[in-house]
Amino acid sequence: MDAAYDNDNIFARILRGELPAHKVYEDDATLVFMDVMPRADGHALVIPKNPSRNVLDIEPRDLNAVLATTQKIARAALKAFDAEGILIQQYNEAASGQTVFHTHFHVIPRWADTALRPHGGEMADPEVLKAQADKLRAALA
Ligand code: 5GP
Repeated sequence: MDAAYDNDNIFARILRGELPAHKVYEDDATLVFMDVMPRADGHALVIPKNPSRNVLDIEPRDLNAVLATTQKIARAALKAFDAEGILIQQYNEAASGQTVFHTHFHVIPRWADTALRPHGGEMADPEVLKAQADKLRAALA
C-alpha cells in the first residue's frame, strides 16, 4: 500500500489538540478517546501517536504499543460497562470499510442480547460520551 499519510486527517487533528475528543487514556505512544458514532455504549478508539494509515504501513513498535493499550482498554471496558464480551475491530483502506486514515482499533463492548449499531451511524450525545469516558477512565485506575 503506497497511499500517503494525510497530516490533516481527523485523528491527527485530535492528536494536535485542534479538534476536541472525549479522552480516556494517554501514554507516550498512544491515545484513547470515545467514538462519536458508537456502535455500542462505551465504544472507544485506540490510536498510535506516530503517523500511519493502518496496519499495512504502521511500524511494528507502534503496533505493539497500540495493541497493549487496546488490551488495557478492553479489560477496563468489560468492567466499566458490565459487558459480556468485547469486539476489537480494525479496518485497512477504504475497500475494507476504513473511513479515517490514521491507524485505530475499535474497542466495542458487547452483550448477547444487544445488536451492534451500524458502522458510522448516528452521532451520540456529547454528555453521554463524557459520562462513558469518565466511567472507562475510572475502571482503568
Ligand atoms: P473507520 O475508519 O474504522 O471506518 O472508522 C472511523 C471511526 O471514527 C468511526 O467509527 C467514526 O464514528 C469515528 N469518527 C469519525 N469522526 C470522528 C471524530 O471527529 N471524533 C471521534 N471521536 N470519532 C470519529
